[in-house]
Amino acid sequence: MQVIENIPIELALDNVVKALRLNKERYSSSGIQEFIAIAESLIQPKACYEVAYINKKEKDKVKIEDVTFSSRVLRKNLENVERVFPYIITIGKALEDKAASFSDLLKQYYLENIGDMVLRLAKQYLDKQIKKHYGLEKLSSMSPGSLKDWPITEQKPLFSLFRTEKNPVGVKLTEHMLMIPRKSISGIYFPAEVTFLSCQLCPRERCPARKAPYDEDLKKKYGLDDE
Ligand code: SF4
Repeated sequence: MQVIENIPIELALDNVVKALRLNKERYSSSGIQEFIAIAESLIQPKACYEVAYINKKEKDKVKIEDVTFSSRVLRKNLENVERVFPYIITIGKALEDKAASFSDLLKQYYLENIGDMVLRLAKQYLDKQIKKHYGLEKLSSMSPGSLKDWPITEQKPLFSLFRTEKNPVGVKLTEHMLMIPRKSISGIYFPAEVTFLSCQLCPRERCPARKAPYDEDLKKKYGLDDE
């Protein structure tokens, strides 16, 4: 298992203002810098990943290191793939605890959102590291719970790929399959000639985190007409 501690994160003022749609009338640059400084003092971005091999491909199922995953989309995405990279990324618990301690809901919201931004940046860092290390040009990923086709219950088999009671980045699963610390993401990376994003198959309207437009035709290609 590979572990990356202390992922370097740069929280540039302009990017934070843009990502959080901050109200400049209410917050001066120094006020926003103060938020950034709080976040920077609390985050502990780290990641772990495994190199895992596919044993078997069945209809709408795929077996990775003897662990079965049920998802038509995942199965189709792994059609020409033999090696995948299950991963867990977290920024730790301190930032979410600090956000919860604010009585001002807007402050809570801003700090929570900076946490989400840090997670996205940490994921971009991990993308680059895996690509560089394994000489891959393109990498896509999927996360359990991002689509109806691959529900959140698939977190359990995903975490079992790490083969230890406690993964080295200290992320635990609750009985409802939620991750603790909450500011964590998990999933499976796979090499892909064409970038795949779950958002392309997700019809949710007005999602602030959408990364690609919803694509009805692609949905049909995956045979998900009934979703
Ligand atoms: S559109 Fe939003 S909810 Fe749907 S997969 Fe993308 S980020 Fe998730």
